[in-house]
Amino acid sequence: MQSTQTMEAVIPLRRPPAHTPSLTPGAATPARPASEEAAWRMTQLLQTTLELRALLELFARELATVVPHDGLGYRCRERALEVNLGRRARHRCTYRLVIGQEGLGELTLYRRRRFAPGELVHLENLLCALVYPLRNALTYLEALRAAHKDPLTGVNNRSTFGATLEREVELARRHGTPFSLLVMDLDRFKAINDRYGHAVGDQALRAVAAAITRVVRRTDMLFRYGGEEFVLLLSNTGEGGALLLAERIRRAVARRPLEVEGLRLPVTVSIGVASLRPGEDGPALFARADQAVYAAKAGGRNRVCPAP
Ligand code: GH3
Ligand code: MG
Ligand code: MG
Repeated sequence: MQSTQTMEAVIPLRRPPAHTPSLTPGAATPARPASEEAAWRMTQLLQTTLELRALLELFARELATVVPHDGLGYRCRERALEVNLGRRARHRCTYRLVIGQEGLGELTLYRRRRFAPGELVHLENLLCALVYPLRNALTYLEALRAAHKDPLTGVNNRSTFGATLEREVELARRHGTPFSLLVMDLDRFKAINDRYGHAVGDQALRAVAAAITRVVRRTDMLFRYGGEEFVLLLSNTGEGGALLLAERIRRAVARRPLEVEGLRLPVTVSIGVASLRPGEDGPALFARADQAVYAAKAGGRNRVCPAP
């Protein structure tokens, strides 16, 4: 039978410790109770990182010295985050972590043996030391996420493109899986800006990014590479699949003309497709897809071209 000790805890601000060490020179320092000592150590430790997983690992390791456990799970649905350390076990206790009105997610501790009430007191004390560093880690994560997003379209910006491409090519090579790349360039986009203004152009860029996002898989990685250029990285996809997807994207973009002031403006895209060859690196693969875009433009635009 699974026993669950669930507590919804609004973690209060930490009260000043009852045994604050005296700063008077020569005065004897009263001994701290063990749990307070652990909370103090925990506070020091958790200040050493802003990285969420590292923070939870430090928390779990330090917690284990006073409350041994088999596993720890952290989940924050609103931020689409989940971190699991160790193993799940029969007994668990879950805490909802909150500062004021702000929910910081849920933390669950797992153990084969039931948790004793005294251990829960220890755990709650240590959770008080976790909440503020956790909030800092979440803020840091959001800042990182925002720094990698293009504010206009919401897709990845170019900042992580090179590193991601390198990593994906390396993974494909190591696992012997296919990998493909699409370079997409909107057709005669300057004319839309010139005729209808940049606000309408921006609207078109947003609509195109949304149309691409709708037809790709969650694991496909879309980047806004430049002004009106997008790149899509397709892991586990060979040339046949990449060409089919490119055609689906081309049609999806062309099918939805942009509606501006009662006009329906056609927006189309030219797409170059390249699949990784043995011994090829990321930049060479990208260069071939880019060449294929030029071929698509030369061939009349609004078309898909495989790389030579
Ligand atoms: P082609 O079919 O040969 O690609 O023609 P094009 O007009 O799309 O190509 P060109 O490279 O000459 O022009 C790209 C245009 O994209 C220039 C610029 O006005 C527009 N553009 C780039 N970034 C943005 C942006 O962020 N917002 C808007 N509205 N327009 C942009
Ligand atoms: Mg261009
Ligand atoms: Mg263009």
